[in-house]
Amino acid sequence: MKPIRYAVVAKHPAAHLFEVTLTLADPDPAGQRFTLPTWIPGSYLVREFARNIVTLSAFNEAGRKVRVEKTDKQTWQAAPLKEGGALTLRYEVYAWDMSVRTAHLDDTVGFFNGTSLFLLPAGREEAACIVDIRKPEGAAYRDWRVATALPEARGTKRYGFGEYRAQNYDELVDHPVTLGHFALATFKAHGVPHDIVIAGRTVSVDMARLQADLKRICETQIALFEPRTKKAPVDRYVFMTQAVSDGYGGLEHRASTALICNRGDLPVVGRPEMSEGYRTYLGLCSHEYFHTWNVKRIKPAAFAPYDLSRENYTSLLWLFEGFTSYYDDLMLVRSGAIEPADYFSLVGKTLGGVLRASGRLKQTVAESSFDAWIKYYRQDENAPNAIVSYYQKGSLVALAFDLAIRARTEHRKSLDDIMRLLWQRFGRHFYNGKMVGVGEDEVQALIAEATGVDLGPLFRDAVHGTRDLPLDALFEPFGVTLEPQPGSANGKNGNGKPSLGVRIRPGADCTLAAVHDGSAAQKAGLSAGDVLIAVDGLRVTGSNLDTLLARYMPGAMVDIHAFRRDELRVARVKLDAPEVTRYKVTAADDKRGAPSRRARERWLRG
Ligand code: ZN
Repeated sequence: MKPIRYAVVAKHPAAHLFEVTLTLADPDPAGQRFTLPTWIPGSYLVREFARNIVTLSAFNEAGRKVRVEKTDKQTWQAAPLKEGGALTLRYEVYAWDMSVRTAHLDDTVGFFNGTSLFLLPAGREEAACIVDIRKPEGAAYRDWRVATALPEARGTKRYGFGEYRAQNYDELVDHPVTLGHFALATFKAHGVPHDIVIAGRTVSVDMARLQADLKRICETQIALFEPRTKKAPVDRYVFMTQAVSDGYGGLEHRASTALICNRGDLPVVGRPEMSEGYRTYLGLCSHEYFHTWNVKRIKPAAFAPYDLSRENYTSLLWLFEGFTSYYDDLMLVRSGAIEPADYFSLVGKTLGGVLRASGRLKQTVAESSFDAWIKYYRQDENAPNAIVSYYQKGSLVALAFDLAIRARTEHRKSLDDIMRLLWQRFGRHFYNGKMVGVGEDEVQALIAEATGVDLGPLFRDAVHGTRDLPLDALFEPFGVTLEPQPGSANGKNGNGKPSLGVRIRPGADCTLAAVHDGSAAQKAGLSAGDVLIAVDGLRVTGSNLDTLLARYMPGAMVDIHAFRRDELRVARVKLDAPEVTRYKVTAADDKRGAPSRRARERWLRG
């Protein structure tokens, strides 16, 4: 099979158009078919990337047009070439989505995922790919560079325009690319080079601090999976960040990650304190880096290989996203990037997030994983009442399993042993051996194999049940206590103010984003989308609801005026007790303090 050749050029940055040329030297003599993925791995939603293909034409070797027809939303069929020879497609892709999942382009920066740009010739999944990334024309682009973990072809300099290569289509579309001006720093983690690439307008980013913090986080993770050899799973890794005014997200890839963050979250030269924003950013980097093992190499069988034409169902995202969410913060504290007290505060926030919504009583984490495509990724106003997050609750499941295994084995075994078994069995040779993934019903047995512990009812209740996890009891041997922290109506920490049981949409108006099942607001007939106007005749806005409610005691009756569409209504509301929005997690050893303190240190220090 001859390689598939692609050329990409940022043809019209002002119109946000990439032009892609695909040349196939030996097309199917019966007429070549091409498809574009409909989803991108890591983001479990059918996104129909083909909707952004604006124009598409095909040519034979003599440059004459060849007829192309669409046969479904993501498939193109070219007519047979009577005269033989190569077939070339030329198409434009609209790229104006500032996210990590698709592509964007203007005169300052370009970014793309292969799933948005590269059509796959049918039957050529295993063909080698060569991508020529061409520099846009014009003086404005003279200093543009290229950042990607795709290997350069011979003759292409690192960060330069030119040819890059991939062994097959799966590899091609697993390496996002940033073009333009960006800040760049490199560090080594256990001998392997890691790039930090930051695009977008930023001021005085402390790259040295980023290098030092990411280095210790990456080295902690490498040592977790390969304690003896400290061998990284990659030869090179790229953290690719787009800094914006307001954004948060990341997508994992086999040797890189695409991130989007608030520019204010990045560390500033001369300000060494640990801001909440920077901690969040490091947590995001840690999360995506952990995926290099967990989901990019250790995968559910349903993803081995991916079928990019349709939904790929698995009930195991609680393991691949939930465990990753557990380890992202744990790796911060184990690496010394944050203090144990900060770690406990993050656990308390996650616990509050899970326990305050009744969706947890209706959906299991296995069900949430399976239905991610239509529920978690398509949340509406009823989400808190219907959905549990396989990220948040999944991380608590990991925590519960870790604590239980440590206690039952007198701290000889832990969740780390499970991750290492998964790595050895499924991950280490995923890309250079047989692609084998974790079976849907295999996890409990793998846990027993790795640790000698049969989690029994705890496993069943945590993964296939909706009962709250017994974290109080599980924390006890570690000298850790939980205490509910009553918050305010809109989720900020408060002093036990009475509650309506709602979430407010950010903005100038007080619009209800969600109404919790069984809440004061629901009982009084208020609904998501209602715009609250007044509480007992006093005007309410997007920012003063808490202040108004703080003057009442729980159980008090208030009249709330609200618009539903254009209809004014008045609701008589009996205020709820304060809502618990987070938990205070404290390390407090009893008189026999030493055993619990030692247990805790082994857990948090690794
Ligand atoms: Zn993730």
